Amino acid sequence: MKLPSCSVCEYSFQWKELIFIMGSKKCPDCGGHQYVTARRKRHGLWFGPAAGILTAITVQVVNLPFSLLWPAAAGIIIAAFMLNPFWLEFTEKEEPLF
Ligand SMILES: [Zn+2]
Repeated sequence: MKLPSCSVCEYSFQWKELIFIMGSKKCPDCGGHQYVTARRKRHGLWFGPAAGILTAITVQVVNLPFSLLWPAAAGIIIAAFMLNPFWLEFTEKEEPLF
């Protein structure tokens, strides 16, 4: 797995710079705005519902006691946040979503 880099100056973003990102990110090296590609944003739209369904299925199959349910769900969400930076892709122009 590899973190994305700036599409202008090839600066490699650090993981902690990418955890909370909403659509665009300013490059600390060249100062240019980097936008998440439309392809990645479209995939992102599916992520919420897919994660919800996956959690619901996991809960049915694994049959966790209720006291473990919320920690397990929180764990899945935190893991998704931590992995999100590896999945991002940047471009210097904002692309239309559709
Ligand atoms: Zn840059």
